[in-house]
Amino acid sequence: MDEKGCDYASVMAELQGALQKDCKFSGGMILGSMCTEPNRIARDAHAMFLEANLGNPGLYPGTQALENELIRMTSELLHGDGVSGLTVSGGTEANITALWIAKKVTGGSQVVFPQSAHFSFQKALDILNLEGREIGLDDNFRVDVSEVEKNISDRTAAVVGIAGTTEFGAIDPIDELASLSEDTFLHVDAAFGGFVIPFLKDLGYDMPPFDFGIFGVDSISVDPHKMGMATIPSGVLLMRSEDYLKKISVDSPYLTSPRQASLSGTRCSAGAVSAYAVMKHLGREGYKNIIADCMESTKYLLSRIRELGLEPVIEPIMPIVCIKLNSPEEVYTTLTEMGWRPSITREPKCLRVVVMPHVTKNVLDMFISDLETVCRELDEM
Ligand code: PLP
Repeated sequence: MDEKGCDYASVMAELQGALQKDCKFSGGMILGSMCTEPNRIARDAHAMFLEANLGNPGLYPGTQALENELIRMTSELLHGDGVSGLTVSGGTEANITALWIAKKVTGGSQVVFPQSAHFSFQKALDILNLEGREIGLDDNFRVDVSEVEKNISDRTAAVVGIAGTTEFGAIDPIDELASLSEDTFLHVDAAFGGFVIPFLKDLGYDMPPFDFGIFGVDSISVDPHKMGMATIPSGVLLMRSEDYLKKISVDSPYLTSPRQASLSGTRCSAGAVSAYAVMKHLGREGYKNIIADCMESTKYLLSRIRELGLEPVIEPIMPIVCIKLNSPEEVYTTLTEMGWRPSITREPKCLRVVVMPHVTKNVLDMFISDLETVCRELDEM
């Protein structure tokens, strides 16, 4: 830090310069992110709640009431009337906290999770000193349930299922996992799917059950800062039993609440309130319309890539299209040089496009035109 401060205007000018270098969702070229431009009310709500610390809730009863209402609305969306929870920074913190609780509740030392699990589970295993039992996938990129069964033992702390995998958007058979893990803890990572699957179901898509409607589901991660249209950071961890959160609570003597049950101490209220505001503002109908548009654009992208003679790795279940290519990394690199920001999956390697609300049909037309050029150059077609 410099000895003397700079004037407001010059610092702001520097910030503007930095911002100019960043990619923007509004430009439409970010194709590989599960986040999007926050809804206007989410931005405005975020700006209003920069002070409140949800880690010291006695000082902020108004904000805490909004957090409670966010948890109630999110749990209602996921058929979990009366479940408890807390707001977190996103899917990573939710998954780490869920496994921390599972370890405390069961006393187990192993976690059975699919190969498709987000890398946040690797972090969780490392931090919590748990042993991972990674399970392969079936032809539809869902966890192989018979292998899960073979790996459950009295050492199991948790079984993990994913409702909307990061790479392919697949939904694990959560009901089958629940029947296998009656005596153990079942955590569902619906960080992405939680704000997608319920609305796809409302729109008439055939969606498998994945939430608290299944009796054996103990906890769910769901991220308003993904398809929930809230600002970053905004995640929610829901717990079937109020006692689960108590398992990780510690005395918090200098704060306004006697005990604290969260990984973070000071917790951001802006993201949580932004999620509350946007859910109130859009209602179920608003989200349904957004998801309907994303799925229409997904189908459009699918038909356009098929016109080029390309195929998806799986028929999209969610607004994610994974395109089979002979040399996906080269196609990815060339598209990136042209300004696009798609992503690459791990296994099998393919080009991945997440059709978020900012990825409109106009954007897709421009993308397809560039994809065609690149694929011709690289002999993909
Ligand atoms: N879980 C799933 C299924 C995800 O797709 C992601 C991120 O994309 C995460 C967890 C991690 O979320 P975050 O980056 O908000 O921590």
